[in-house]
Amino acid sequence: MECYTIDDFKQVPKIDTHAHINTGEKTMIDEARDNNFRLMVMAVDVVPEYPPMEEQVRVLLKHHLEDPDILAFSTAFTLEDWDEPDWSDRVIEKIKMDFNNGSIGIKIWKNIGMDKIDKNGKLISLEDPKFDPVFHFIKEQDKVLLSHAGEPKNCWLPLEQMTVNSDRDYFSKNPKFHMYNYPELPSYEDQMNARDNMLERNRGLTFIGAHLASLEWSVDEVSAFLDKFPDASVDLAERICHLQVQSLKDKTKVRDFLIKYQDRILYGTDFQQLEGTDPSELRKYMNKVWMSDWKYFNTNEMMSVPQLNSEFQGLQLPKIVVDKIYHLNAEKIFPNAWRISNIAG
Ligand SMILES: [Zn+2]
Repeated sequence: MECYTIDDFKQVPKIDTHAHINTGEKTMIDEARDNNFRLMVMAVDVVPEYPPMEEQVRVLLKHHLEDPDILAFSTAFTLEDWDEPDWSDRVIEKIKMDFNNGSIGIKIWKNIGMDKIDKNGKLISLEDPKFDPVFHFIKEQDKVLLSHAGEPKNCWLPLEQMTVNSDRDYFSKNPKFHMYNYPELPSYEDQMNARDNMLERNRGLTFIGAHLASLEWSVDEVSAFLDKFPDASVDLAERICHLQVQSLKDKTKVRDFLIKYQDRILYGTDFQQLEGTDPSELRKYMNKVWMSDWKYFNTNEMMSVPQLNSEFQGLQLPKIVVDKIYHLNAEKIFPNAWRISNIAG
């Protein structure tokens, strides 16, 4: 079996399929270029932390036109005017324009199902048929639906029972999304079922379940999801630590999962650059995470990460599996998303 080493990191082409840029600064793009990475950067309906949608898309389009070899992008819609009867038509008009400008698809976020309410005070669910014309349009245009639905299972547990330090940290800072505090709201299973019911009705739609499709706690669950929905893939963004938790118990099982589903898994980090993010800190952080992940997938060394309190061993995957997870699968799902250059002459 042929495997890559730490030293091969720069030489292997790689794609980080899950990143966010909300500034005109090129820090993330420069760091990607220096490390032989390309980026899939997503607009997302995160308010008020992210700029208004039009502004997010404007910034991404500008980066895409300036650095088409590094940055491809996907757009998003908001739930503004949801209660209007022609909401779907209005959204389709907007995303049509973004598709014409090069967007590879649409990113939807956990605010559907967990935060946004309709005029009757009811949470808007991902399985609401009002979304179907939009999803149908995405399918018809051969674009991709990128979905962050629900949250890690930890979100429904008390802080002290969470399996990784990063979830404990996030939910202590974002109590609004810590569902353990809201037993009257939809359960973890409700969130997963809403997503699956939507997919049942939209067979044939190219779908990426971001963050291991929120099934991060069990590779068996991710396997069952991928078996049930042959048009779906999953990305690893911010959830590699959950694979590492499972590595502690049964390393072979995690490794076998990645090998079995090598065509359906995409590397991603969820890095973000906002206005005011310190560029040198960001570059340092990106490099640290990219190198740590590379070590985990390619070597059999003992290692540690801030999310876990115990040491675990790397998976030492075969080269071909790494190539697929790190770029070949993304190139297949997003054909022509990245171009050598747009400047003639
Ligand atoms: Zn993200």
